[in-house]
Amino acid sequence: QGNDEDTPIVVLSPQLANQIAAGEVVERPASVVKELMENSLDAGATKITINIEQGGQKRIAIQDNGKGISKQQLGLALSRHATSKIRDIDDLERITSMGFRGEALASISSVSRLTLISKPVNQSAAWQAFAEGTDMAVELKPTAHPDGTSVEVLDLFFNTPARRKFMRTSKTEFQHVEQVVKRIALARTDVEFVVSHNQKKMLRFANNVTLDKRIAQICSNQFIENAVRVDYQFEGIRLHGYCCKIGTGMPTRDYQYTYVNGRMMKDRLLAHAIRQVYEEALAPQKFPAYVLFLDIAPEQIDVNVHPAKHEVRFHESRKIHDVVFKALTEAIGGYSANIEAAQN
Ligand code: ADP
Ligand code: MG
Repeated sequence: QGNDEDTPIVVLSPQLANQIAAGEVVERPASVVKELMENSLDAGATKITINIEQGGQKRIAIQDNGKGISKQQLGLALSRHATSKIRDIDDLERITSMGFRGEALASISSVSRLTLISKPVNQSAAWQAFAEGTDMAVELKPTAHPDGTSVEVLDLFFNTPARRKFMRTSKTEFQHVEQVVKRIALARTDVEFVVSHNQKKMLRFANNVTLDKRIAQICSNQFIENAVRVDYQFEGIRLHGYCCKIGTGMPTRDYQYTYVNGRMMKDRLLAHAIRQVYEEALAPQKFPAYVLFLDIAPEQIDVNVHPAKHEVRFHESRKIHDVVFKALTEAIGGYSANIEAAQN
């Protein structure tokens, strides 16, 4: 439709604008959990507690012991395009935090009943904020809460029936939540994570464990028994973690984790380089298994490619491919060796 007197151009209400933005990031309960956990990590939390009810469709509650949000800033935290993480285009070119779009809380809040509660260490009382109505006006109330922040998300998608229809069973939705927690927990051995579903404790990852311990807990002992350590550096790029030995591998593709600057990515370039290393070098019916962290200067990548930050662009993709290939080849004992192993 064009614009004429019957259908004039109007500015959408804040709520509707947020709901449209939510369409890109808030696909299901697991995406809410991801955004909220990333906020807790950006706030320096060392413990994150996640309580889920009915696969997250009824309730998602996340509590952290991070630096908190002052009473004066609670309303802003719930507003769209409001962030404490970047200031200008230069900051956007070198992102070091998980968040930077200033959209998650506003988006989630527009498609659920979201309450944000926080108490910074230097503030004597805790306050809670709740945004309501098409203008998303924020209401503040005093409450009780230890140092840190809690976000409670009730009735996800109650006002967006189209999205609600795509929810699966509570069991399936919870499995997606678990997957998100595991991906993040693999990258943050310095943080404790506790997850409950319908009041029952389902996962607990202690903090300050070694990476191999955390991998064993999340990916099985078999994974770590068959893995070698990777630690490779080249011109400011570092690749580290664990990958499976020649002649081993796992029975499914579920044990393939790659991270770029701490963010889990399913990146085609990385996957391609890894596949090339393992070509024919694994046991029959086995798939490469790896947990690998690529660390690179933030100005060498662009993470502002997809709203959910699932993708990254490398400025020097050829070099990245070479680094991954060389790092793994070295770790598993040489490319020619793996061809030989495959032939024997
Ligand atoms: P972004 O993470 O992109 O900045 P969000 O909408 O996720 O945007 O959060 C908005 C702001 O609210 C953040 O920039 C941060 O300042 C604050 N915030 C959100 N969650 C937390 C938390 N758990 N602890 C401390 N501050 C938080
Ligand atoms: Mg965020």
